[in-house]
Amino acid sequence: MHFIEVLLPLSLPKTFTYKVSEVEYNYIQKGMRVAVPFGKSKIYTALVIDLHQVPPTLYEAKEIHQILDEKPLVNEFQIAHWQWISSYYMCSIGDVYRGAMPSAFILESETIISSKKDLNIDVKELSDDEFLIYEALQQQSSLKVQDIMAILNKKNIFPIVQKLLNKDLLSLQEEMLEEYKPKLIRYIRLYENYTTDAGLMALLISLKGTKQKDLLMHYFQLNVKEKKPISVKQLTEISQASTAVIKALINKNIFEEYHLQQDRVNFDSNKEETNLVLSDAQQLAYNEIGENFKTKEVSLLHGVTSSGKTEIYTKLIEDYLAQDKQVLYMLPEIALTTQLVSRLTQHFGNEVAVFHSKYSNNERVEVWNQVLEQSVKAKIVIGARSALFLPFSNLGLIIIDEEHEQTFKQQDPAPRYNARDAAIVLAQAQKAKVLLGSATPSIETYFNAQSGKFGMISIKERFGKAPLPEVELVDLKENYFKKRMKGHFSLTLIEAITEALSLGEQVILFQNRRGFSPVLECTTCGHIPQCTSCNVSLTYHKFKNQLRCHYCGYSIAKPTNCHACSSIDISAKGFGTEQIELELAELFPTKNIKRMDQDTTRGKYSFEKLIDSFKSREIDILVGTQMLAKGLDFDNVTLVGIMNADTMLYHPDFRALERSFQMMTQVAGRAGRADKRGKVIIQTYNVNHNIIQQVTNNDYEGMYKEQLYERLIYKYPPYFRLIKLTLKHKDFEKLKEGSMWLYQVLQQNLQMPVLGPEEPGINRIRNEYIRTIMVKIPQNTSLVNTKKTVQKILNSFEVIGQYRSIKVISNVDFY
Ligand code: ADP
Ligand code: ZN
Ligand code: ZN
Repeated sequence: MHFIEVLLPLSLPKTFTYKVSEVEYNYIQKGMRVAVPFGKSKIYTALVIDLHQVPPTLYEAKEIHQILDEKPLVNEFQIAHWQWISSYYMCSIGDVYRGAMPSAFILESETIISSKKDLNIDVKELSDDEFLIYEALQQQSSLKVQDIMAILNKKNIFPIVQKLLNKDLLSLQEEMLEEYKPKLIRYIRLYENYTTDAGLMALLISLKGTKQKDLLMHYFQLNVKEKKPISVKQLTEISQASTAVIKALINKNIFEEYHLQQDRVNFDSNKEETNLVLSDAQQLAYNEIGENFKTKEVSLLHGVTSSGKTEIYTKLIEDYLAQDKQVLYMLPEIALTTQLVSRLTQHFGNEVAVFHSKYSNNERVEVWNQVLEQSVKAKIVIGARSALFLPFSNLGLIIIDEEHEQTFKQQDPAPRYNARDAAIVLAQAQKAKVLLGSATPSIETYFNAQSGKFGMISIKERFGKAPLPEVELVDLKENYFKKRMKGHFSLTLIEAITEALSLGEQVILFQNRRGFSPVLECTTCGHIPQCTSCNVSLTYHKFKNQLRCHYCGYSIAKPTNCHACSSIDISAKGFGTEQIELELAELFPTKNIKRMDQDTTRGKYSFEKLIDSFKSREIDILVGTQMLAKGLDFDNVTLVGIMNADTMLYHPDFRALERSFQMMTQVAGRAGRADKRGKVIIQTYNVNHNIIQQVTNNDYEGMYKEQLYERLIYKYPPYFRLIKLTLKHKDFEKLKEGSMWLYQVLQQNLQMPVLGPEEPGINRIRNEYIRTIMVKIPQNTSLVNTKKTVQKILNSFEVIGQYRSIKVISNVDFY
């Protein structure tokens, strides 16, 4: 008897055994996919992780439907890594499998598919089965895979659907919600009949308008110089010609226009033979990294903002490519990839691939396969955290830029992994090196570097020796008292903005809160409108004249009377980006002011568009939330204003102070140019607060020491590892009882601090009440054993009848 052990893309804590024939047994390899029946009538794409002769004891093994791959799609490094993630982050391996693979790879009977819009296809190229599916989708907007089985009257249809997906004729449901529209760049080229010398001459003679001739000459010069596609933008910039001239030449069929996708262009043509020259400080850091890597697997590059970390990464990547290794470059935010791609392709041309969740299934599948085959097209992969799951087998280097960013940690759904930490484990398996980069490292990382676990390299100067910005504090209490305020702006800030703008420089203003003002409060009775399904106050959005819940999206029109006492005296408390934008418009009516926050960057490319127009100096003042702090590089910003530093400082979170420091230092780092020292103005009620002082003096060390001490005293990382258990239920009493039970059992069985069950500040979201329990694992206690004990207790909790309906979520290293 022959069996295979498979993973199913479900939240089930184990693997499953299926029966295969001898022929199949001999064909199947670990990492191949098979379609298998599961439950009463469902079919799933399962992943083979083992082959054996041992029948399962608890159930009769079913037979598989069909083998889906000719060769493994997932390698053994990955399977081992998934197993690690599953056990470390206390989630089922099925969750990891599901989270790791592009969904096109894991079709199941419930998968909903539809046909792509605006298709122009030749139906003769379709097989009979493919045609039947195609035809059915002309009549119905979507089908379940199950329906297709009925239409074709067979069970083995995954390969057929897969083929249609590969041909880009179908899309899967989650894609329909947000179909990725890649950015297209407009290029032009000469029609073919003009590309010969003779054709050219004839053309030049035939042209009458001097403007058109002039434009063509510029085109030729560019063409000779660049040897790469010429974008319309580039040509207009160089020739100073109007778009009308270009249009005329297109209409005359002299120029032909075409579009290329920005991040999927043939990068090769983008490659410039520039030799990267490192500054002395950079060269020194680069050498030290090399030294460190001889003995350490992980190194931290602690370089002040604008020290040119990217250039050092680039140099390192060159080394690893020369050794024929793969390189993974992780960023905290996909919106940053565009900037980085254009920088890296200048050096590496075609060898850069990008992977992120906004890509269509097809594109993700394409990159997956390139990595799997170690194709030259994906020697360097840039991506946000999910890129970690690509089938690397020959990694030499993993770079994690802005390693302190929270976005490397996935909070929902499972697997709730931290991509930085998981990357270190992956690298170990492949004997690769990891470089963590940041101007404001996380306390945990810096601790690891201090204790010698990681190597550490620091750069204290900016590239070009530009000085770090000068920080000026504005005491809000005093300024309000002395009436030196206009709205939320101190006169000091207004003067600085006026000056910067008058010099043609740009300004960034930071307010870490979106919306107009956080809350509306009744001045008569103090009532604050709340969300009906979450225990939070609603945020006022002036533009839409709405109150909105930032947790569930619930919204109501702005009330004219207090809901509690009907008074009409309702006033706004606090302020958000929207209000700052509005006040700015009054203070600087002739200036172009834009806002960057979740509300203005929801649409496709709206983030990129904002960045682009800010870079090209169309925007004078950019107001934004923490989005501004994420490693953007602008060369004309000389002033950064932090509207109110205090809201950050008083978050009920053990990392609030560390994060405040990071956020302020990062935003401040956007100020200054090579030739001019930048200025940062921080408005605060707490000028003497240690964090404010540390930001002012750029005193990372001071911040670190102080925070580390607090972590020790209050039992937090890096001294204690944390597991947070979140319990949810609609019934308040049941939840209260259940969480008390769980808390007591944990408390009795673990020799370590167990805290809770606590009602978090926001104790109800989407009508579910919430309680949390926190387990603090001391350094000298086994993580593995503790997790095992916790899991055992969770398992017994689950079988208690009255608590079964309570949802429990485990989050390891939740911070
Ligand atoms: P960081 O990531 O450390 O904040 P960047 O890598 O963004 O800094 O570099 C800041 C700026 O300095 C960028 O515009 C970059 O192009 C420029 N720069 C850094 N190093 C060099 C170098 N060796 N040669 C030319 N320009 C450099
Ligand atoms: Zn009232
Ligand atoms: Zn809500």
